[in-house]
Amino acid sequence: MTKPKKRKQRRKQQKKQKHECVCCKELTGTLALEDGTFICEDCAQAMSDLAP
Ligand SMILES: [Zn+2]
Repeated sequence: MTKPKKRKQRRKQQKKQKHECVCCKELTGTLALEDGTFICEDCAQAMSDLAP
C-alpha cells in the first residue's frame, strides 16, 4: 500500500511585514515612524546622520 503523497502546504506567514519606505519607496520599510509611515533601516540611518 502506498501512501498518498501529501504536499506540505504551509501558509507563508511573513514574520516581518514589509512596508513601503517613505524615503526610497522600496518595500523594505521595517521601522514605523510616528506618523504611521514606514522607513527602511538604510534610510533611517541616513536620516539619523542628518539629524542634529
Ligand atoms: Zn528607504
